[in-house]
Amino acid sequence: MKIAANDLKRQHDLYAKEYDDKAVEVLNSGWYVLGNEVKKFEEEFAGYIGSEYCVGCASGLDALQIAFRVIGIREGDEVIVCAHSYIACVMGITMNRGTPVFVEPDRYDNIDASKIEEKITDYTKAILAVHLYGQSCDMDAIMDIARKHSLKVVEDCAQAHGTMWKGKKIGSIGDIGCWSFYPTKNLGAFGDGGALTTDNKTYAEEFRVIRNYGSKKLHYENDIIGMNSRLDELQAGLLRVKLNHLDDLNAERNRIAERYLNEVDNPHIRPLMTRPGSNNVYHQFVIHSDRRDELMAYLKENEIGTIIHYPIPPHLQVAYAYLGHKKGDFPVTEKYADEVLSLPMYNGMSEEEQDYVIAKLNAF
Ligand SMILES: *Cc1c(COP(=O)(O)O)cnc(C)c1O
Repeated sequence: MKIAANDLKRQHDLYAKEYDDKAVEVLNSGWYVLGNEVKKFEEEFAGYIGSEYCVGCASGLDALQIAFRVIGIREGDEVIVCAHSYIACVMGITMNRGTPVFVEPDRYDNIDASKIEEKITDYTKAILAVHLYGQSCDMDAIMDIARKHSLKVVEDCAQAHGTMWKGKKIGSIGDIGCWSFYPTKNLGAFGDGGALTTDNKTYAEEFRVIRNYGSKKLHYENDIIGMNSRLDELQAGLLRVKLNHLDDLNAERNRIAERYLNEVDNPHIRPLMTRPGSNNVYHQFVIHSDRRDELMAYLKENEIGTIIHYPIPPHLQVAYAYLGHKKGDFPVTEKYADEVLSLPMYNGMSEEEQDYVIAKLNAF
């Protein structure tokens, strides 16, 4: 049996007619960028998250870049971020000439909040809470630290659409939530897309201006130097369809995860647990293994696809050599990069496929 790490065709097939009808509707509308579908999606997504405002943009990275710009990150400012995170998290900071200050992850693979305060300096302006793999960071601890030191909190919610921290949706807890709708995300579009959520009216207005060349009007009056980071009508329309099904899609991922958690029994495979206080939307089902590379090769021989999220931590990337970090600076992060493996997890994964993966994992 051949099983991909992810299969996007399956999730399309689940609600194919609804997507196809919406696509035709938008194509026939004659309006393709920043129109009624975007407006409706922004309202519906803000409602779903429990934020006052949602502003669509072109990608998750753009959302991060815009967020740090709007909270005023500039050269010399420091932003605290988990060392075990995706490269885009760091790029959002450095595209504004801010400096990422890395903190090791805890045993839930998200920022270790107990290690944040020791990294705070006179230059620290913000904390980026990256909710990696589908579960929430310890938002109580992060918000307490932020209040105590007058720091802004930006949430990277790109892997956690629908995740809650103690009954509140993530993306509505910090000052700004940044979202990606890249096709593989839990709320994935059929192309690129992103959004920002906030309760701050001034921020929301600034997001709208920046995404549209720095213009408050639709065209040709520019107050600041902005970007072209608009959300397409087609993507917004398709996202509206998927948003209606998001809770069901996340519930299906949870059922697959439950099977992995209950049925995989192998001393070389340690599934990542979920932090008390958070639920999990299982953007990825991540395991740690002391024999990760061997396990990955074995699964590949058995035609089971897996992915490493992520093999090289940002502090060791060539792009960030200028920060002056070296191997050994973040031993927990570097260990995780050698241990983590994401098992097949996608909407529309059949029971037989799950059986096969579980049997092969147990036979390793
Ligand atoms: C996907 C992702 C992003 C970037 O989103 P794009 O839409 O690909 O730019 C940022 N942060 C995290 C944690 C992500 O997983």
